[in-house]
Formats: sequence, C-alpha cells, structure tokens
Amino acid sequence: MGAKQTAKITRGRRKFLLALLTYSKLQRGKIMKFFTFTKTLLKALFDKPATAAYPLGKKIYFDKTRGAVKIDIKACIFCGLCQRKCPTAAISVTKTPKTWEIDRMRCITCGACAEVCPKKCLILSNQYSSPTSGALKEIFQDA
Ligand code: SF4
Ligand code: SF4
Repeated sequence: MGAKQTAKITRGRRKFLLALLTYSKLQRGKIMKFFTFTKTLLKALFDKPATAAYPLGKKIYFDKTRGAVKIDIKACIFCGLCQRKCPTAAISVTKTPKTWEIDRMRCITCGACAEVCPKKCLILSNQYSSPTSGALKEIFQDA
C-alpha cells in the first residue's frame, strides 16, 4: 500500500469519527431534552394547579398585596396631608365636622397617603374592597 493510499484512509477515518462525534452530540441533546420534557410533564401531572378553584378555593393574598386603604379614625388628626398627596383626589378631609372620606373607585392603591400620614393611621391592607353596586364612597367620622 502506497503512502498516498494510507493518507487517504486516515483522512477518511478522521471524517468518519468527526461525523460520529457530531451525531452522538446531537443525540445527547435530544435525550436531555426528552428528560427535561418528561420531568416537566410529571411535575404538571402531580403538582397542585396554579389557579384557585373559585368559589370553592379561597384566594390567598400575599403580605405585600396592595389592597384597600384602611384608616384608624381615632388616631387621625384631620391634618389633610393625605388629601393633598393623593394623586387621584380620592380622599377628602374636613376639620369641622371631623370627617375622612375615600372614593374607592378613584383610589389606585399607590400608598402615598399612608406614607405621608404623620400619625400612621392609614394602612394599605392586603384585602381588596368588596364589590358593590352601591356607593363606593366611605365616610369615617370622629365624634
Ligand atoms: S394624613 Fe393621617 S392624620 Fe392627616 S388627615 Fe390623613 S389620615 Fe388623618
Ligand atoms: S392609596 Fe394613593 S390613590 Fe389611594 S387614597 Fe391613598 S394616595 Fe390616594
């Protein structure tokens, strides 16, 4: 066998090995994808659903859920800071009579009122206002 023929065979072998390597890499990728898919499938089959079965399942509110603004009217000094800071003019405060009023439909739960309140009597609860067909204005009065 001549030197030329030997070189040809070596080149052929190298090409074959390279093709084999590429093929096995592709196959490994496919196998890995298959395992990932199976893992996701099994997790989806045995995990609890991500959605709540309303109305049977109760909605869980997270601690940081921004819900309805609540006031401790006894602690309020009717300074009107919350009213001035509210970007949607949802709050209305009067000194005489001592009233604090909120229009729930206007409130965007930004929390600005609770932030500026000097008495810390406003909080953003983690519960939403109950749906209603009546008036959405709530008036709190300090006797
Ligand atoms: S900022 Fe606080 S203390 Fe002042 S009116 Fe509003 S709720 Fe009352
Ligand atoms: S949470 Fe924001 S929008 Fe709602 S009443 Fe307070 S300041 Fe106004």
